[in-house]
Amino acid sequence: MIPAPVGGTGPALEARVWSVPMRTRFRGIDVRDGVLLRGPAGWGEFSPFWDYDVVESRRWWAAAVEAATEGFPAPVRGSVPVNVTVPAVDAERAHAIAAASGCRTAKVKVAEPGQTAADDLARVEAVRDALGPSGAIRVDANAAWDVGTAVARIRELDDAVGLEYVEQPCATLEELAALRRRIDVRVAVDEGVRRSADPLAVDLREAGDVVVLKVQPLGGVRAALRVAEAHGLPCVVSSALESSVGIAAGVALAAALPELPFACGLATVALFTDDVSSSPLLPVDGALPVVRPEPDRLDAVAADAVTAARWGARLAAVSAA
Ligand SMILES: [Mg+2]
Repeated sequence: MIPAPVGGTGPALEARVWSVPMRTRFRGIDVRDGVLLRGPAGWGEFSPFWDYDVVESRRWWAAAVEAATEGFPAPVRGSVPVNVTVPAVDAERAHAIAAASGCRTAKVKVAEPGQTAADDLARVEAVRDALGPSGAIRVDANAAWDVGTAVARIRELDDAVGLEYVEQPCATLEELAALRRRIDVRVAVDEGVRRSADPLAVDLREAGDVVVLKVQPLGGVRAALRVAEAHGLPCVVSSALESSVGIAAGVALAAALPELPFACGLATVALFTDDVSSSPLLPVDGALPVVRPEPDRLDAVAADAVTAARWGARLAAVSAA
């Protein structure tokens, strides 16, 4: 445990560092770690990826403080439909993951460095086979393609399996706008919102059909609701690969949105080999309940001393501002 208090002028927050191996390498990481903070309103999560600096991590900190000190807005629905997330694995694994999930929607990672268009096609075809004709498939390229490549790849994948939308196929909003004029598939903007200096002000009118909202990168549930309101586009809530405590904040956001036309990307605890809670937020029949799981396994998933010290330094830096 990191000695309390952290969090500057606010209430003292108990901090616990967790670390859990991934089942499959995802987003270039094999182990996910972070900090849980306990405050008067419950547990919050602070888990910016290691390639995020102090400035970018401040929104993640604000999200953790909100959860621990304020809690969440009132929900307007009691459960949240979710997609299974299929990493850039081979077709056989992709089929197994989608089939075992119980979800009717799959988000399939594509454009993984070192893989080919044929790998992506085989993966989405396997997922289509697992979900059946009524399932929905979306792909996420994490900004990997230029416009020309995106046009070709999206057409190929859409012709093969039918795509609900494609998430952040290109890096910039200008590229996304150019792409949108050349394809019929909806474009969802993820990095273009959450990594921008001002997610409220970014102009998505030409660039996107759907906004991906993530609680920690946007600075909390209330901040994400303001982003949703500012853009007036359909929203999908996705995780930042959090433990069940961080996922609960995503569920709270999805539960508070006035409209929720698409399944959310919040079933990612399934990508971990373990969790902070003995009641992890895993989907049942393709949905998550609107609950805040108790992190009762913090001793079992406690990080080693070196990792805990690194998080202590991060916390000190981000909360000092
Ligand atoms: Mg994404």
